[in-house]
Amino acid sequence: MTPERCFLAAALCIAALALSAAAAAGQAPGRHISPQRLQAGLERLSDFGRNPEGGVTRLGFSRTELEAREYVLNLMREAGLAVRIDAAGNIFGGRPGSAKLPVLLFGSHIDSVPQGGNFDGPLGSLGAIEVMRALNDAHVVTRHPLEAVVWTNEEGSHFGISVLGSGVAAGVLGPEILDRRDEDGSTVADWLKRYGQDPARLTEARIPRGAVAAIVELHIEQGPNLFESRIPIGVVQGIVALKRWRCVATGVANHAGTTPMNRRRDALAAAARDLLAVRDVVRSETGRQVGTVGYIKAEPGAANVIPGKTEFTVELRDLAAEKVERMWSQIQERIGVIDKEEGVGTQCALTDQVAPALGDPRLQRAIHDAAGSAGLATMDLPSGAIHDAGEISRLAPMGMIFVPSRDGISHAPREYTSWNDCANGVEVLYRTVLRLDTELDPP
Ligand SMILES: [Zn+2]
Repeated sequence: MTPERCFLAAALCIAALALSAAAAAGQAPGRHISPQRLQAGLERLSDFGRNPEGGVTRLGFSRTELEAREYVLNLMREAGLAVRIDAAGNIFGGRPGSAKLPVLLFGSHIDSVPQGGNFDGPLGSLGAIEVMRALNDAHVVTRHPLEAVVWTNEEGSHFGISVLGSGVAAGVLGPEILDRRDEDGSTVADWLKRYGQDPARLTEARIPRGAVAAIVELHIEQGPNLFESRIPIGVVQGIVALKRWRCVATGVANHAGTTPMNRRRDALAAAARDLLAVRDVVRSETGRQVGTVGYIKAEPGAANVIPGKTEFTVELRDLAAEKVERMWSQIQERIGVIDKEEGVGTQCALTDQVAPALGDPRLQRAIHDAAGSAGLATMDLPSGAIHDAGEISRLAPMGMIFVPSRDGISHAPREYTSWNDCANGVEVLYRTVLRLDTELDPP
């Protein structure tokens, strides 16, 4: 609507103009959730483990996280939720539904990486509690029972096990993790006891198939796509497949001063060309696939010796597992050619692989519609990072809502999402939950 056309029904026009101005600024018209309450909670949570640079260090299974958990538990109780903690330390805040149906589950995590930020995890966790408070304010009765969840040790910075709580809930992790030791000699079992749990009952945290109607996670994007295109809401198509290899190029170590350039079998020179070949192959296709050589080590590693052996890693990620396979076979071909030209032999072994976790189409549609109803533009995009919701997607339909990360930065004190973008994400979560409550398990 333009001001020139606004001469008939002045009052109506002023309201409509304000609405369209709000939509243009990326604000949701008619918010149900309270941005002030959300911001106050996030600011208070950021006190637990605060660093001088402004971010937090709040590792999973730490005194700091234990205190932050108490704060979150209190918020849940104040919101009138039925609080329970499972044997993996995951926190649930339940709100009853009117029908006997599986639960609609939504939430995130509150642990961080060392020197992490204030939004990765906290937004989805406190956003879930804010949705419950807004439903209470509006006296909404849902058909499905609802649960806000805060998963344990998502980042895995402590004990090196990421998505620990959701992994146990999904049945992917079990008692084998209990004896894992940290630098201080404490085990996962010791920490579960400090969290008030009985490690012997760990598998009781497994969520039975059919118990969850859907899992929704609101999270910051941790990449630049939404921020750079100024789109407030991302609809996650899925969490990408990942494969990692460890490669060893073997040449001949020899004197760096006396070996002529045309007689060398330099393993590091070959590995360097392999690294660029990985980048070329990944760049040669359209799409959002990524490939990284993140580690390289030459031996013997001296300035006056031609490297006889070089170890490096290759990691490929894409939403489509077939694309990862196709890129890898092209990379292997290129490595074969480079081997011949450099006179070395390269062997690669698969060390890690994660299957993609695809977003459920019904949930993607619900998120689109929820954002549309709030006047917010959306972008479909994959998640290059893993998330708790991906674990739960093994037993229930999964959806994820992304909001912009300033400059695409995360896992750092400079991680930032504007309060308006945070509130938009929580509003879309609120509307998504209500849509799913109507659409899933029809009577
Ligand atoms: Zn996270």
